[in-house]
Amino acid sequence: MNYVPSIGLEVHVQLRTRTKMFCGCSTAYGASPNTQVCPVCLGYPGAMPVMNAEAIHQTVVSGLMLGCEIGTFSKFDRKSYFYPDMPKNYQITQYDKPLCLGGGVAIVVNGAARTIRLTRIHLEEDVGKSTHHAACSGVDFNRAGVPLMEIVTEPDLASADEAMAFLLALKQTLLYAGVSDCNLEEGNLRCDVNVSVRPAGQEKLGTKVEIKNMNTFKGVHAALLYEIDRQSALLAGGGRVVQQTRRWEPDSGETFPMRSKEDAHDYRYFPEPDLLPVVLDRAQIEAWRAGLPERPADRRTRLVQSYGIPVYDAGVLTADRAVADFFETAATRCGNGKAVSNWIMTDVLRLLGERNCTLAQCALTPETLADLIALVDRRTINLPTAKGLLPELFETGGNPALLVTARGLGQMGDADEISRLVDQTLEANPRIVQDFLGGKQAAAQALVGQVMKLSRGKADPQLASKLVAEKLAARKG
Ligand code: ADP
Ligand code: ZN
Ligand code: MG
Repeated sequence: MNYVPSIGLEVHVQLRTRTKMFCGCSTAYGASPNTQVCPVCLGYPGAMPVMNAEAIHQTVVSGLMLGCEIGTFSKFDRKSYFYPDMPKNYQITQYDKPLCLGGGVAIVVNGAARTIRLTRIHLEEDVGKSTHHAACSGVDFNRAGVPLMEIVTEPDLASADEAMAFLLALKQTLLYAGVSDCNLEEGNLRCDVNVSVRPAGQEKLGTKVEIKNMNTFKGVHAALLYEIDRQSALLAGGGRVVQQTRRWEPDSGETFPMRSKEDAHDYRYFPEPDLLPVVLDRAQIEAWRAGLPERPADRRTRLVQSYGIPVYDAGVLTADRAVADFFETAATRCGNGKAVSNWIMTDVLRLLGERNCTLAQCALTPETLADLIALVDRRTINLPTAKGLLPELFETGGNPALLVTARGLGQMGDADEISRLVDQTLEANPRIVQDFLGGKQAAAQALVGQVMKLSRGKADPQLASKLVAEKLAARKG
């Protein structure tokens, strides 16, 4: 019997506001524990929340980017939550009137394009962070009250690969929207994974299991593969899946039961009495819509059309908005989009990977890369010389034209000079010349290599190979 998985995700995304959701405390990551706290986010009795307007704006922008319907009337609710990481013992969240409804995320897996429907996006406050030590546990409330957007999908995802593609596409859109850093290491993006399986041919979804608080995409993928197998085997063996919350153990690669699932009424939601509803007028929503940044898919199409690069290149370049910005600045400056794309996709991305840094952190600017490429296009230097300069420009920056002059790296483009080097080379390598005359075509390349070496890499390679070919042809007579 074949089993078909259904997966729904609840993705929590920390917004990129300067201050917390209901107080003025900083949201900056990495400070000493409990240094960014106040009576509001510590839940002191009588402390009153004040809504962060920028968090509302960023949530609506996210919703618009994802094609959601924006609610003109939305409100906050209290959800009972009795854990040490939440000092108020309730969490301010949104229940029946979220900011955004519907929407979707387009994914492509194995060549098949699908749209994964979103149920809703609501805004809530993050909880503190517990740490467990040998003799005690600690709670850091710096994170308590950070604006947290929850994006809920319909159970539309049908495989671990689709879940991965969805998360990548969602992250990309949120980065383009500029609403979150989406830094997984800093816990900016975490998700609860809901998964069930049902026998092939059955309409009704199976009983779901929820895997809580996943903070790596690889973990989500691995946990899903494991859980789909576990549930399928259970059903195949005549058993049944129990609805429960489980946790993922990355070390053993298994999920374990945590608790049986609370029903919604256990949360005892009721309207937050200390906050007014959020009323957005249509004109405001439309103004925000007009100011939206370009979506990743639109940018891909535009890069192909405006710069004449292949669709594949456009996909790689737009994966990261900063890379796409870098590309466009450089391509506009030097006018050779294809070359800029090649340089970024091979050398620049490789250097970023090796040094484990971002474009913003390295010294290479789009202007510098454009100028380097222009030197090659004008045949001032050859490609190997340019490639040789890149690591230095990447590490410390600099002006390519000045470096070339200062170090005498200019390409040897003078035909007479190269011609003399070719003569010398043919004299010095009679065996290779004989090989060529005997019919070994590849021998010509070896001779060009010798000419380049003799010029210390500076000869114009095209001119060198043209002259080698001419002189060899003359000897053939
Ligand atoms: P709950 O009431 O348990 O929180 P919801 O209906 O709110 O459940 O759904 C929470 C998440 O679980 C959503 O992402 C939804 O798509 C997903 N989900 C719901 N039912 C199933 C199911 N049978 N199989 C897989 N995922 C499901
Ligand atoms: Zn505070
Ligand atoms: Mg729910």
